[in-house]
Amino acid sequence: MKGRRLEQWPLVAAVGMLLLSGGALLYYVLFQRPEAAPEVRSGSVDAGTGAGTGVGTGAAGAAGAGTGAAGAAGAAGAGRVPVMTLSSLAPEPGWGRLERLADVLTSAEVREAMTRIYGDGTADWEEWVRVGDERAGGAGVMEIVKWSAEAGGERLSLSVAGGREPVRYWREAEDLPVSSDPDGRPLEGVKVVLDPGHIGGAWARMEERWYQPQNESTAVMEGEMTLLTAQLLKPALEALGAVVSLVRERAEPVTAARPGDYESTTATTREAELFFYRRAEIRARADLVNERLQPDVLVCLHFNAEPWGDPGRVTFVESNHLHVIVNGHYAAGEMAMDDVRYEMLERVLQRSDREELRLADAVSKGLAAATGLPPYDYGAGSMAGNAHRPLADNPYVWARNLMANRLYQCPVVFTEPYVMNSREVYERVAAGDYEGEKLVAGKLRPSLYREYAGGVVAGLKAHFLARRPRP
Ligand SMILES: [Zn+2]
Repeated sequence: MKGRRLEQWPLVAAVGMLLLSGGALLYYVLFQRPEAAPEVRSGSVDAGTGAGTGVGTGAAGAAGAGTGAAGAAGAAGAGRVPVMTLSSLAPEPGWGRLERLADVLTSAEVREAMTRIYGDGTADWEEWVRVGDERAGGAGVMEIVKWSAEAGGERLSLSVAGGREPVRYWREAEDLPVSSDPDGRPLEGVKVVLDPGHIGGAWARMEERWYQPQNESTAVMEGEMTLLTAQLLKPALEALGAVVSLVRERAEPVTAARPGDYESTTATTREAELFFYRRAEIRARADLVNERLQPDVLVCLHFNAEPWGDPGRVTFVESNHLHVIVNGHYAAGEMAMDDVRYEMLERVLQRSDREELRLADAVSKGLAAATGLPPYDYGAGSMAGNAHRPLADNPYVWARNLMANRLYQCPVVFTEPYVMNSREVYERVAAGDYEGEKLVAGKLRPSLYREYAGGVVAGLKAHFLARRPRP
């Protein structure tokens, strides 16, 4: 959606303008991310947190007016009113914050990251981010389009000479101090945040992460399953020395917003619900993580699913697979959103991708060994074109731009094992959590949740054993 907003006006003028012209300054253009499945079950991959940008509507505009006024209040009186192109509920980007990340990367490194990870395989990114050649002194320069609606408008110019340490809240494994017990406690002091995907409980039906087969007593609720997995992971990672917190501890939203808050500004009740559980909820989690928890590693826990249609009349599928997502693969339409482009560049210039790829590589291998699942392939079907493989030798790792892995500024490992509506996984969900092994779906196995947690622990352990400095 597009919103005309006030900025760089003194507070009095800004408030006055808002009162005088009110909503007249705001106009909305419907922006629909082409591949964003409006309903989870319409995509073959769990898209519960997938909508990177949403349908722009009045609700976003209403929220936008609020942040616009706040922005104006903090701005100096340059007297110019930029036209911003923002996705739903997005705050306006403070482009100047990127200046702290000047000279971390070289221009060649920026180009490489854009080509290999953040771009979608086309050269469209060069419309928004131009990387100049190194000057005689060695310093390259980067020109970033600030407001996409202002053709030929103001750009942020950033030196990319390389060699400077990034200002960021997280640490790469290689920058950690030596552990007091390098082999027993390889995660000593590492801040890990676990994000149990979705909300679950009373919200599971609304967020379409719920189904119950006919004549069966167990309902499948992804938000409950991810929470249980996180609760098993926490003590296991603490035993390796990690400092672990969960984004949520219950089947309740993190955001204080509720669907009713968006009802007066959205066309339908369903749209208000989407604003609540997809956008407001994920933004609230990102604020909590970036402002308060500030981890070295964040793990987004999910269970995958194939489209399941009517949640009361599910037909089981045969497929069962695994993949791990890193942030990347921005389409041109996504980069055209000012907030999305800004968030992408925070990740590019902090070099979040380097540690994220190493973590994803290790965790995907841990999960593959624990689960025995084959890799999911985005190459065919309804999700084709949404993702690409950034690691030639690891078919489990895919780059994809999700709201939940873009907004967190630290390295994010987004795990998607198991197809919840396969018969085998259903039987394992119905068996619940248990210690040791049991005969479930024709095989002696650990509980679904312990197998999942064990794979993540093995991957993280391998990463820090291999990467952390040793005495
Ligand atoms: Zn999910």
